[in-house]
Order: sequence, then C-alpha cells, then structure tokens
Amino acid sequence: MTTSPASYDLLLKGGTLLDPGQGIINHRRDIAFQGGQVAEVAENIAPERAANVVDIAGKVVTPGLIDLHGHFYHGGTGSAVHADQNCLSAGATTGVDAGSSGFLNLGAMRDYVFPAHRTRLLAFLHIGAVGLAANRALGGGLQDLRIIDVDQTADAVKDNPGFLFGIKVRMELNAVAHWDAPEAMRRARAAADQSGGKLMVHVSGTPIPLPQILEFMGPGDIVTHAFNGNHEGILDRQDNIRPEVRAASDRGVIMDLGHAGVHCDVEVAKAAIRQGLPPDTISTDIHLPPPGRRVYLMNDLISKFHAMGMPMEDAVAASTSRPAQVLGLEEKIGSLAPGMSGDAAVYDLREGRFVWHDMVRNKVEGKVRLDTFLTVRNGAVAWREGKLTEMGPC
Ligand SMILES: [Zn+2]
Repeated sequence: MTTSPASYDLLLKGGTLLDPGQGIINHRRDIAFQGGQVAEVAENIAPERAANVVDIAGKVVTPGLIDLHGHFYHGGTGSAVHADQNCLSAGATTGVDAGSSGFLNLGAMRDYVFPAHRTRLLAFLHIGAVGLAANRALGGGLQDLRIIDVDQTADAVKDNPGFLFGIKVRMELNAVAHWDAPEAMRRARAAADQSGGKLMVHVSGTPIPLPQILEFMGPGDIVTHAFNGNHEGILDRQDNIRPEVRAASDRGVIMDLGHAGVHCDVEVAKAAIRQGLPPDTISTDIHLPPPGRRVYLMNDLISKFHAMGMPMEDAVAASTSRPAQVLGLEEKIGSLAPGMSGDAAVYDLREGRFVWHDMVRNKVEGKVRLDTFLTVRNGAVAWREGKLTEMGPC
C-alpha cells in the first residue's frame, strides 16, 4: 500500500474551538496548518493528511492571542522582557510594544531585537525620542519637551507601515509635569495625525484631568490602563462611569486593560463591567516588575476577567479579534479562518479555586483558569507544555 504525501504540516485534532472572530464558540473542530497559514477548519480531518498530528481532545483552542500593550525591547530598555518567554508561554503569538523606543532607538529594536524572536512583534513609537530607555533614570522621559520631535517621530511611523501603528504618550505624574502635559498631548496628537497612525495614551496617575486628555482622542485611539484605581480614573465618586469616558467610548476610543501590577483595580474593573464598559482589549503591559510586584500574562488575564463577570468568549474576543481590528489586521490575525496566519493557542481548562490579585488590596477568586498547553506560531509548534520548542538567541 502506498501512502499519499501529507498535504498539511500540522493538525490539531479533537479540540474545542473558541474563535469569536469567525463566530465559532465552543465547537469541536480539527484545524490544519500549511505553509504558515490556517489551511482547513472542519469537524473531522483525517490524520493521515498531516505530517504532524497533535491530539488535543478535551482542550480549548483559540486564535493566537494578541497582547496590545507589552514591553519587548529586550536589552534595549531596563524593563523590557523576552517576548517568547512571556507571550508564547501564554498562548500570545503577537505582542505590541507600547513605546519602548522612540525614533532615535527604533532601528536596533526593529532590526536586531525583534527578529531574534518567534513572536510576531509590532510597536507603537514613543513620542519621546528615546522611548523608555532612560525611564529608570528619568522616570518617564518627558520632563524636558525638547525630547519630542514631532516631524521625525511621525516620519518614522510613516516609514514603517505594518510594523509601527502609531504614537504612545504617557500621561503620568513622574513622566511629565502638569504644566507641560497639555503640550505633550498636543504634540503626540500632531505626530499621530501626521503619520496616519493611532494615539495610545497611558492614563494611570495622570498629571491633568482625564476628560482633558480624552479631548485629544478620537475613534481608534487607545486609552491604556483604563481600569486603574488612581485619581482621575474612569469612575466618578459614586462609582459610575464618568460621562466623558462614556462619550469617548461611544465615539470609538478603545478602552485597553494594560494590566501590569499597578494599573488595574478590581473594583474599578468590576464596576465598569457591570455598567457595560468591559475592556475592549485585554493586554498585559508586561515588563520586568520591581521586586514584590506581580504581573500576569494573557492566559491569566482572560481567566481573571472571566472570573470578574466577562463571558469567556468576550474575554477571548478582547484578546484576539478585537485587538486585530484595532490594528487593522483582522484579515490576517486574531482568528483561525482558513487563509489567516497560522497562529493558535491550546489550553487546558483547569477547574479549581484560583486567586488573582490587583494593584491595591483586592483579589478575585475564580473557578476556571486557562493553562497553556501548546502555542502554534506561523503554522508550527512554538511552545509546548512549559517549554519553547526552539529558543531564539535574544
Ligand atoms: Zn506600558
């Protein structure tokens, strides 16, 4: 008997697919990959057709997650992490660096650091010329507005389509003085407009009132750390969503999590979910935290927000199809429809008692946790049961 050559590189067999982008919610599907892309999604694909078959019966498959806010300029700033260790291990196959570099130190990130990883790495460019490279010395980098060059920053974004998606600015007390903050916002807005990119604004611990910041923001721009518990948060004194925040969301401003260790307050997030304003996008703000501070990866943030009241499919959408739309990449990533990028995550759905902490005093208890079993990147297994299948040199 002769066997015909396998037509697929990889087959994930027997899993339960949770793919909000193509409207498949918890159905048993086999998924085949070929040439770095999704080749076929069907109820039954014969194992003989694939060179490599992984039995994932009883496990949950999602599109590879997209972390819209992380810090991946590993070695280029004091706080950036190794992307493969912190993304692939959580089922995230795309990481978006949020302003680790500015136009002056972009080249090494784009040409040397990012290509040394298997994770797909994209970026927002910091409005300050050197990004976060001087953060640990200067506390945020916009103390002297001469560090901002609108034209060169906008040109860098324009010159890197498909890699740079806009401008990041940090409205944070240590980063910029309150008397300079409106001008920093104005310049960041100008650079975003000039480049045709989006504006991503850090809003935790702001030097000026949040409504004043939101005035600069339009459809597709991103508020990150939206659920922080500092002054000038999204809630008023009665814990209701502030009207300016609701208006911003209604006009299409994206409310991004940017969890980190200190930028999410459980009570703020729960109140927002109750009032119909869950995070549009779930993201980690992953970085090397100071000692004692806890940061979570994407699989835990989905599990945590599920425990706080988001349906699992909404939390997965906020980590896949939604960030893909924010980036304008919904034809390529964030779903496992045939023809899309071959990026997927496979999880064991653990049941038990799990506890997640927040920035201040609160904790969340849940009964379900996504535990990464396997991550597929570009049609090949990149992470399996706690290990990178191939370590990048970075
Ligand atoms: Zn950040």
